[in-house]
Amino acid sequence: MLRNFKLILAALIIAGLQSGAFAQTSIALPCQNDDKKCATELRSQSPIKKMSYWKSAFKKPVEKRVGSAPDELVAYLNLDNIVGGFANRPQAATPPEDFLKDVNDAIAELPEQVKRLISKKLAGIYFVKDLGGTGYTDFINKGIFGPNAGFIVLDIDVLSKSTANAWATWKERSPFIADPQYRLDATIEASGQDNRKNEIQYILLHELGHILSLGEKIHPQWGQSKNKISLDRYPFAMLSWQNGDQSDSRYISQFESQFPLRKDTVYYFGAKLNGNQMAGVYDQLENTNFPTLYAATSLEDDFAESFVSYVHTVMLKRPLEIRIYHDGQIVKTYKSCWEEKRCATKRKFLEEFLKLR
Ligand SMILES: [Zn+2]
Repeated sequence: MLRNFKLILAALIIAGLQSGAFAQTSIALPCQNDDKKCATELRSQSPIKKMSYWKSAFKKPVEKRVGSAPDELVAYLNLDNIVGGFANRPQAATPPEDFLKDVNDAIAELPEQVKRLISKKLAGIYFVKDLGGTGYTDFINKGIFGPNAGFIVLDIDVLSKSTANAWATWKERSPFIADPQYRLDATIEASGQDNRKNEIQYILLHELGHILSLGEKIHPQWGQSKNKISLDRYPFAMLSWQNGDQSDSRYISQFESQFPLRKDTVYYFGAKLNGNQMAGVYDQLENTNFPTLYAATSLEDDFAESFVSYVHTVMLKRPLEIRIYHDGQIVKTYKSCWEEKRCATKRKFLEEFLKLR
């Protein structure tokens, strides 16, 4: 997911996690905490949005582009939080050996086609603490040709204490107001594989989906004014989206009548759906070509979720299942759509995307 253009996954659970477990350094900021003008100005001068800054990173093998965030990146993240009004002040964090091994293994186990694609576009995965979310993905400017590379920042404290299914369940529950009569459980790993490494791999695959979309005809670049750009040049977005009313800033899906609850589907913050709508939302989702519920929330996350669920279930042969219970009885099971007709055109797009490069 993206916060402003970047992802904000887990501020809700951060509050429950203790920080301070890892080595860190703080940097002095030249702007006051509430001085957005100063922060905007300095942010625009940051070297980290320039390709020249990442030259040496791109010379390394992709699995070596991982480590504590460099000072210039930490400064940029702090300025960006000031501009965005976030209280968090990110600091560089050195990952402990066991955590670094999980990240390295998560990348090493990705399919070769995926590793080949990301080696051209991923400047690296960098660790901080107090980010204000689980992670952050942003693009690097590349002159007149537009962005075609980017970097990922992860909050080490948030990621280091969860496992795959607990994280997926927390995420998939977030659009629903808590109700003791209804429960939703998500499974993305079999019990013997339900560990931190696989949680990191799933989160990374979503972010890598955002990175791989850069410079492609997938959807308009994030950060551009929404709903003003025609989707004609973006064959992936055209499979599910259309320009909405010009008075609204957002695109709309092609399934608004079959999926009326889509507009009430909000992840992470401000749940709008009630527990008794859980099964109905997933019934409606099955009338669309969105592979997951989160995919239905925006063009960008449609691609990121399509990418992660395809790589995870089809290429890596892992599970993806949502189970909904009412008074302890199962009332709905939702599974990956890639073998179903409804997702066939998206599957074809992804297979071409992964194969041709
Ligand atoms: Zn995303």
